[in-house]
Amino acid sequence: MNSTKLTIGSTIGIIGGGQLGKMMAQSAQRMGFKVAVLDPDETCPARFSAHHFIHASYNDLTALTKLGELSDSVTYEFENIDGEALAALTENYNVPQGSAAVITLQNRLSEKDAVAAAGAQVVPYVPVDDAAALETAAEQLGFPFILKTVFGGYDGKGQYVVKAAEQLESAREFISSGLCVAEQMIDLQSEISITATAAADGSVVFFPVQENVHRNQILYRTTVTGTHRHQQNAINEVKKIMADIKLIGTFTVEFFIDQEDKLYVNEIAPRPHNSGHYSIEACDYSQFDTHILAVAGWGLPEQITLHQPAVMYNLLGQDLDVMAHVFSEHPEWHVHVYGKEVRKHDRKMGHVTILTTANDYETIYEEQMK
Ligand code: ADP
Ligand code: MG
Repeated sequence: MNSTKLTIGSTIGIIGGGQLGKMMAQSAQRMGFKVAVLDPDETCPARFSAHHFIHASYNDLTALTKLGELSDSVTYEFENIDGEALAALTENYNVPQGSAAVITLQNRLSEKDAVAAAGAQVVPYVPVDDAAALETAAEQLGFPFILKTVFGGYDGKGQYVVKAAEQLESAREFISSGLCVAEQMIDLQSEISITATAAADGSVVFFPVQENVHRNQILYRTTVTGTHRHQQNAINEVKKIMADIKLIGTFTVEFFIDQEDKLYVNEIAPRPHNSGHYSIEACDYSQFDTHILAVAGWGLPEQITLHQPAVMYNLLGQDLDVMAHVFSEHPEWHVHVYGKEVRKHDRKMGHVTILTTANDYETIYEEQMK
């Protein structure tokens, strides 16, 4: 069923109706597809960009089946969906991405095991499920190290940095919530990511390397020049991973770069990614366009062209409070507001992309945010 080629007017079903689902839906509709969205939140951003809306939890099998019935191809906007439910859906409906990759990648431990087994470089890590394993982690990794819950973390949630032995007691408390991975803390020079899209026919296309700055472990700024020195290294690492994990659609691999300029794979998001949003304005295809091409069984472009270097800033709840009144004065900022009903501190409410060849964004944008 993997090679089903959708005709115009077919329906693409999306599990999850957040901003990623919304931007997928917008690409799909431009190409003439209809969209069905399943989400537990009746006011989710994608609802108002969809022809059909199913109000249900992500693991509601009856609702997922309804989505399958409505759709000619089913995809998902985030990885924390119910892997078994997705596997069941794959039996009877066209789910081009399948369920195996998402099941491997939604678990930080099996993700790291798979990346390491594929021969890509990962940060040294130790699984931690009890106090003894925590001691082992401290011995093997040294301080500081970082504990991450195996399931469900995002934007730095579910992480605890263990700076010194005095913190082992609170670390024991942290691990009582469930299985964790302990990871060596890297003295970061920078962080990059690369977004790619793969199709069922084996073709794959890479976007330019994205350089990412995080604040409080949440993506703050992405800059893309098209000339990053690690472009080829990043592609080589991704190709190793792809030989072992069958990735279809758009996905992003995040990397750490240490002080010796060495690259480590941090994590893989098997879906469009925040650091790829600039592609909507800066590239000839956005990460959402290529995702839809892949799940529609259509061909992918041979390459992605970056029309102009770009910088993207996330708009969190607090930024939107400060910024909303200046949007009207900056037509050169491509403003995206997702339409979430509830504005919260640190919640991703939108983003801004500026097409710029110079590092002048610090004055034109960051000055305004102060
Ligand atoms: P998620 O994005 O799922 O919240 P990540 O593992 O990507 O989780 O961690 C979020 C951010 O925290 C990273 O982008 C990085 O800035 C920082 N971080 C995470 N792990 C490490 C590490 N081992 N060494 C240094 N910084 C880290
Ligand atoms: Mg991350």
